[in-house]
Amino acid sequence: MECALVGNLSNTCFLNSISWRVVRQRKTRMLYSSANFNAPPLFAHSNPPIERTLAVFGSEEFVWPSPADEIPFWKNTFPSRDARIQVPTDIEKDSNPIHIIHVTAEMAPIAKVGGLGDVVTGLARACLSRGHAVDVMLPFYECIEKQQINDLALITEYNTFYDGSWVPTNAYRGVVSGIPVIFIEPSNEFFKGQNVYGGSYNELEAYLFFSRACLEWMQVAGVQPDIIHVHEWQTGALPLLYWDMYQNLSLQKPRVVFSIHNMEHFGECRKDQLSKCGLDGSIYANVDKAMDDRTIGHNPERLSLLKGGIVYSNAVVTVSPTYLKETLCSGWLASTLLRNREKYFGILNGIDTVIWDPANDVFLPANFHAQKPEGKKICKYYVQRGLGLVSDGSLAGDPVPYITDNVPLIVCITRLVAQKGLHLITQAIKHTEELGGQMIVLGKAYDDRVQGEFEDLANSHNQGSSIRILLMYSEELSHMLYAAADMVLVPSIYEPCGLAQMIGMRYGAVPVVRKTGGLADTVFDMDDSSNREMANGFVFEGIDEGSLNCALDRAFRHYREKTDEWNSIVQKVMEIDNSWNNTAGKYIETYNSIRVRW
Ligand code: ADP
Repeated sequence: MECALVGNLSNTCFLNSISWRVVRQRKTRMLYSSANFNAPPLFAHSNPPIERTLAVFGSEEFVWPSPADEIPFWKNTFPSRDARIQVPTDIEKDSNPIHIIHVTAEMAPIAKVGGLGDVVTGLARACLSRGHAVDVMLPFYECIEKQQINDLALITEYNTFYDGSWVPTNAYRGVVSGIPVIFIEPSNEFFKGQNVYGGSYNELEAYLFFSRACLEWMQVAGVQPDIIHVHEWQTGALPLLYWDMYQNLSLQKPRVVFSIHNMEHFGECRKDQLSKCGLDGSIYANVDKAMDDRTIGHNPERLSLLKGGIVYSNAVVTVSPTYLKETLCSGWLASTLLRNREKYFGILNGIDTVIWDPANDVFLPANFHAQKPEGKKICKYYVQRGLGLVSDGSLAGDPVPYITDNVPLIVCITRLVAQKGLHLITQAIKHTEELGGQMIVLGKAYDDRVQGEFEDLANSHNQGSSIRILLMYSEELSHMLYAAADMVLVPSIYEPCGLAQMIGMRYGAVPVVRKTGGLADTVFDMDDSSNREMANGFVFEGIDEGSLNCALDRAFRHYREKTDEWNSIVQKVMEIDNSWNNTAGKYIETYNSIRVRW
């Protein structure tokens, strides 16, 4: 069996040797309707409606998961998500439709590593539902599961220039979660491997290739969108290629928007590497163009695709107003951003409320929403049982027990990288245990040191009854955890926008966050008496452990001592509209401000 839990519940999966005992597998999802459940106001501490839950849980159909299941509950076969996806039809159409092509390294759910994938899918869907034409161009990573693509068909066989020769390349068209996608598949080794990133090819060169291949396809196919929207350093060379090459060929209409989701990576690139995609790299080694200022005088000096993208795009967007301010006053790119201030905008990300919809989520054992919240309690108990956080032995009869209400469950779903506040996550584990709560970390580490540290933590905690540390990426489990959680922790050192706190809120998890970037724009402290109207979570400022402890203490106290207030804050966070419908309009204004009428 694939190792899913490190230092897992029986502590043997880590050795990859456990044969999980088959107990019972869940047969059907529980769908809540008023017919079988009369919506009691039910969150923390309220008495469970045992008679009614018994009626539901006594059903032959429903089976609780257990840590001993051969197939972990998040790997069950779920109904197709697409069947449930409903593109909102009630959204007013914009009067001047635009054609936008996103060029991106990630797209949820088929090629998602972090928030970039979510943003592309959510923004694309929001613009589609407002009547615009949208395509996404994505590398055809070998790891993409083709059954998640509808109507996949080869549409163009063409050649793309790379490193002195023309590489045969295929373009496929397909539909993913209702969004048209063009997949670029080179015949060389690029984009092969088991993961989106980290294959055994040169990643920088692969994305240089991809940037040119997308423009080449537009030229060959005769497609001229109004807007080419590029994302992150991976596609930062496209604006250079567009203005200095393809504008002199046959593409003239498009204007380019560049989104910066995170300034952690600058797309460091040697001149000779940039030259491989057909540009003369030395032309860009200039402080006003793409020179990485930090490397001046080094041998070799280097370029930054992020900087080049900023300089050469018609508009540059970052993902929250506070991150915009932060990037203008710190970091080596601040001077470049200040020089380009007039075209630099901070637009808060939204979440895709079609994918993240607790009322329709196919991964949940029970659905719920703000007006009918009781399914959330089932989700919490389901996850607790599946991970061995409550023992099934004491729960004969299967009603959701009172104990579930008394123990606050906090989740942290994150890439395990320094930006995310690793020492604070570790401290939260310790402090949650001290406070008698439960915590689940779902995280993927990208370097051996961090992996080792969290494996040690998992080995020392996963045996007990309060902490689970799951070192992997699982889209399905992430949905279940948001739904199960009373609180969602995002203790980032910096956070350009952050989606976990917004998703958590939609699923009724109260956020506990550090005040930085988009977290500061979306979470407002419950104990700030000057801002009661916005109050929706617990905020701390310091990066020290004491600051985190204090926020957790306050959150746990609220949960345990102010039940009614807690229940209403859960309802309030579920009702907050962080959807793209709310924020896509700002992107459309930006697109309109730079497009050329043709
Ligand atoms: P970032 O883009 O920096 O990773 P965001 O908060 O913007 O952070 O977006 C993170 C997205 O990735 C969210 O949808 C979150 O649920 C998801 N995610 C992060 N880690 C995991 C994981 N280990 N398993 C599943 N989903 C994850």
